[in-house]
Amino acid sequence: MSIRLSPRYGVNPGMIDCFICGQATNALVLYGHRPGDAEAPRRAVDPDRNAWCDACRQAAETHVHLIEVDEDRLPPGFRKEGKSDLEALHAARTGWGCAVSDELLNRLFDATAAWGVKHRYMFVDKKAIDHIGLPRGEPGPAPEAPDVPTTDPAAAAGDDDAGDAQPGPGA
Ligand SMILES: [Zn+2]
Repeated sequence: MSIRLSPRYGVNPGMIDCFICGQATNALVLYGHRPGDAEAPRRAVDPDRNAWCDACRQAAETHVHLIEVDEDRLPPGFRKEGKSDLEALHAARTGWGCAVSDELLNRLFDATAAWGVKHRYMFVDKKAIDHIGLPRGEPGPAPEAPDVPTTDPAAAAGDDDAGDAQPGPGA
């Protein structure tokens, strides 16, 4: 693998936090040259399962991570914008989440569960969490909001399935 160096920042490194729980994974990404020779974000998350922390990856073998979002905090019409869905949903996270079995996910969310089963995570509006009556109990670890929602330029550009419009059960 080769990398095009940034004239200003060289290999242009950044750290990756777990997309699910927000913990540092100690993974380093070398961004190299970015559009506009921009500096890499210090911390970023990557929705790709391989970039999650060990604990969240392990949990995903048998469970699907539910990530609570507060859709009231989203800009109006964000779902129509497509490309920015992931970014908007990421910004709307409340910091709470839990993991449920595939079987429970299917029972809870019916048709929309397939996306979660495939990707091993799903954004769920907090109204839906309330409606279902999932016990919040201990608050999940509150992730520090990283600078950008993804390290993958292709995903950010919307030609990756990471940016798929995800049918939120609360929508
Ligand atoms: Zn994690």
